[in-house]
Amino acid sequence: MMGDLPKCFICGKPANATGSHIVPAWLIAPCVGERDKEESYRISINSGQVDAFYGSANKKNNENAIETEIKEHHYTLDNIFCSNCEKKLGVIEGNLKEHLICSVSENANKSLYSLSSLTSGIPYKTFLKANLNEYLVFWYSIVYRWYIYHLVRSGCNQHIFNVRDVVLLRKILKEFIMTGNINDSAGASKSFRFFVISKLEFDATDPRLIGEFDRNGHNEFYSCQFIIEFYAHSDNFDPLEIPYNELINSADCPPTLILFSNEQWVERIYELKKNVPGFLKNVGKRLAGITNQDSQKMIQEYQEELTKLKAEEQIDLNHFEIAEKRIIKKYALKH
Ligand SMILES: [Zn+2]
Repeated sequence: MMGDLPKCFICGKPANATGSHIVPAWLIAPCVGERDKEESYRISINSGQVDAFYGSANKKNNENAIETEIKEHHYTLDNIFCSNCEKKLGVIEGNLKEHLICSVSENANKSLYSLSSLTSGIPYKTFLKANLNEYLVFWYSIVYRWYIYHLVRSGCNQHIFNVRDVVLLRKILKEFIMTGNINDSAGASKSFRFFVISKLEFDATDPRLIGEFDRNGHNEFYSCQFIIEFYAHSDNFDPLEIPYNELINSADCPPTLILFSNEQWVERIYELKKNVPGFLKNVGKRLAGITNQDSQKMIQEYQEELTKLKAEEQIDLNHFEIAEKRIIKKYALKH
């Protein structure tokens, strides 16, 4: 078809690239890598949406009739970039992969980073050999793609950034893609501050999310093993109020990665999942369908189970599941 293609969200040329990843595949590979077994949540607090995705081989698709629907993969969109921009972003992603993936693997190449601690004791990595501009542009491109994703999916109704922020993000990305530097958009780059959080090491039971979360005015992006807390110009933030202010990534600072302890990490994901509007409602509905009980009662029991699990220090990837299973088991025994 020779009809008008949409325009590339970066350079404005016809957007002919297909299957653009919203988040680079390798970044979320531990969440969605095994395509058939993947399980993830797309969460948007702005629109109050929680959408669970389960791969075809994930047992949740048929277990206890919890999920019967095989949903589409959320994380690609067609015709948002031209092939040139898509290709250049791919190069940046490829260059950073080694640094970021190493940062969370047991076989980390120790010469790529130094490990230090804040005075508060929080450990962090400084990437010694990653290119700072690439590091900035990489994370900018991810938050920009989340913006496009919400815009496209909502039929242009959902804007997670203000117009000015979008213009600035686009300016930086365009300049870097065209010239390999961000000289002209250095000022634009100062409009954004962000920090990235991960854990020292991940194992299969660590909880992970993919999604975007609007927290008190600034956006947080969950990309599996990384959390990006992003402060845009229009968020009107007070720099002193930003946590881990010393580790803010910007044009003036070396690229860093904050390393949460196991507890901090689990707590963060747990808190987010628990507070998602609709999350509890869906759990209640699901449990009510299985146990023939009232869904409000089920929500209450579910929360009690979570509290118990928390007290037993059993919070891990499966604690939501364990809580549900305990309730299902309890009512199954009564019949
Ligand atoms: Zn383009």
